Amino acid sequence: MPDVAFINGAFVPLAEAKVSIEDRGFQFGDGVYEVIRTYKGRPFALEAHLARLNRSASALDLRQPYSSAEWTDLVLKGITRAAYPEAKIYIQVTRGVAPREHAYLPEATPTVVMTIREFHPVDRSIQATGVEAITLEDIRWGRCDIKSVNLLANVLARQQVKQARVFEAILVREGLITEGAVSNVMVVQGGTVVTPPEGPRILSGVTRAVVLNLALSEGLPIQERFVSQSDLYAADEVFLTGTTVEVLPVVRIDRKVIGSGRPGPIAQRLAGCFTNRVV
Ligand code: PLP
Repeated sequence: MPDVAFINGAFVPLAEAKVSIEDRGFQFGDGVYEVIRTYKGRPFALEAHLARLNRSASALDLRQPYSSAEWTDLVLKGITRAAYPEAKIYIQVTRGVAPREHAYLPEATPTVVMTIREFHPVDRSIQATGVEAITLEDIRWGRCDIKSVNLLANVLARQQVKQARVFEAILVREGLITEGAVSNVMVVQGGTVVTPPEGPRILSGVTRAVVLNLALSEGLPIQERFVSQSDLYAADEVFLTGTTVEVLPVVRIDRKVIGSGRPGPIAQRLAGCFTNRVV
């Protein structure tokens, strides 16, 4: 089954989906996006992803052409068309086509794109051993809560991840951990799950919220506060959360061993709860 694309109201084969060079997404990174995955063919936490799409769009004064109900219908149609056992749905809304000028016309017609591709989950053996990360300075702008397609800092970070042959970059701003380049970060300190608070410094991860709720229902104390880089190295456990990584233990950071050097009991417990929650 070929990958499926949806562009400005119509489903087309991916290879036929084209956007103008004058699109403001191309010219300025003036747009927002979401990534959703399916479990057993059903989109996970679709409502939360669509709510965040709306928040991102309104923070940029970007007209969102579809309601959440209409998006839900389109996503389900796309999943059916693609017919992959598990799919990754990418949605992008840009401020549309206009002669290149930084200021925009509020009435511009947005460009709406969706792709549905096969999803390949993180290998189970990686879940079992845990992954390695590096820290990098967080050079992103001041509104990381907006899921903007302008991802230059993340692109540079992920390239360094690739060159370092590790799994993720944990970003540090003024000595404090913010999040991963494509994930949220949680640490365990003396049995408490600690993660940076929602706000302009991080993306409000959909998985982050699900995992915090799972921790609460497991009776684990949680704290939403910033953690320093030295506290990160000294944590009992560190793990990442995200749509594509789920709950993924980190066992080495900047070549330093975290905790026992193996996935810790709380990360493993939450990963188990997460698996039960999604299937
Ligand atoms: N933080 C960043 C910078 C991300 O790009 C992502 C996901 O792509 C996340 C966190 C995790 O968010 P979610 O759990 O909604 O996938």
